Amino acid sequence: MSYLIRNVSVLIVPESGECRVDEGRDIHVQDDRIAAITPTGTPFRAAPTASSAAPTPSASPGASPGGADGEVIDGTGLVAVPGLVNSHTHSPMVMMRGAAEDLSIEDWFNQRIWPMEVNLTPERVRVGARLACAEMLLAGVTTFVDHYFHADQIAAAAVESGIRADLAPTFFSSAGAEAVDAAIATARDLRTVGPRVTASLGPHATYTVGDDDLRRTAEIARAEGFRIHLHAAETDDQTQSSVDRLGVTPVQVLERTGVLDAGALIAHGCGIRDADLRILGQYADRVTVASCPKVYLKLAMGTVTPIKGLQSVGIRIGIGTDGAAVHNTLDVWEALRMVALTQKQREQDAEWMNVSDTLRLATRGGAAAAGLADQVGALEPGRQADIALVDLFGPHCRPIHDPRAALVYSVRSSDVVTVLVAGEVVVRDRRLTTLDLGEVLAEANDLAHTLVDLSRGGAVQHYAP
Ligand SMILES: [Zn+2]
Repeated sequence: MSYLIRNVSVLIVPESGECRVDEGRDIHVQDDRIAAITPTGTPFRAAPTASSAAPTPSASPGASPGGADGEVIDGTGLVAVPGLVNSHTHSPMVMMRGAAEDLSIEDWFNQRIWPMEVNLTPERVRVGARLACAEMLLAGVTTFVDHYFHADQIAAAAVESGIRADLAPTFFSSAGAEAVDAAIATARDLRTVGPRVTASLGPHATYTVGDDDLRRTAEIARAEGFRIHLHAAETDDQTQSSVDRLGVTPVQVLERTGVLDAGALIAHGCGIRDADLRILGQYADRVTVASCPKVYLKLAMGTVTPIKGLQSVGIRIGIGTDGAAVHNTLDVWEALRMVALTQKQREQDAEWMNVSDTLRLATRGGAAAAGLADQVGALEPGRQADIALVDLFGPHCRPIHDPRAALVYSVRSSDVVTVLVAGEVVVRDRRLTTLDLGEVLAEANDLAHTLVDLSRGGAVQHYAP
């Protein structure tokens, strides 16, 4: 299938430096990729691709520009942005939205979330994941990097919805060797699910998975080409506790067990210390960090991800929402705005984390966090056609002196009009094409109470880092 997105403004996100918005462009999409971006009306002759070996008809002289491009999507008045990446989430936790408010991190885990997760079943996870995929696609999030249980069910929801996903089947050491083996086996199975699904290994955290299991995970990751997605140094308290108990920081645990060497996505890292930066810098080609600042504010975690320090040693940063049981939404627009605000505050520098750098983290940074740095995260010929068309005509965006500022500080997820993933239109005129939203919502409403029921007692884990 081919599309011509005609007469659209295009957000260009370079590897470094200022982003810009080019007006009056045509985006030519061929199969799953961006074939070209040209000034509007420029005839474009599509090259034959592997999946369309037959000669491609060319536009005849005087024909509507892009006649070789298949269906035309009118982009007039819209801004095309690279599909956003949710760099760290637990998608099925949308089922617990609003069920654990105004709690300390200890009580959030020990009184609510881990007791609730006793109720997880494949069906409940699938229903939650479908709702999560619907929410993300409608908001222009085209890739999510997930870390949860029953990941095969999340994969099924992702494939059905058309979203792109990197899924890490999650495990605790306390669940025993069989649970660890099962999670790793699921990761292997996920590799054959479809072209938009990739897999990582998902130890829960340095404080819930022992060194032996981390070492084994790293060995398997290296041998089989997986990356490792886990929580580490979430707060400075966790780091201090690790130093007190083990004599080393969580980052040092990741180094000594081979996790950094294998390649890792570290969620949060708010407790990363200056001495850790020297270690992380040695693995900057294979280690990324996801920052989810709404969570740090809400749980009063004391600090946020030290992005400036991490970037100074070459670590790439993505932006995530974490699970909706604390973030309440899977809205990456909201998350990226929080990154800009909290980073300015952390560094006491209003010039730090400017609009261009913020947009870069949400797109290219997220692509790196997803292990897809060469595939998504920018609108460039040859990359996957993961595109969100955003309407900046709402009164909260007008007048527009700088569309980049509107994207960072004004846009709402409901301003996303049309979304493509891998060249497939998955949202058209603010409606999902792949899922019946009414059915998704009804299913979630029917089952949500079963997930937050605390009457069974017990917990999947205890928070005592
Ligand atoms: Zn998390």
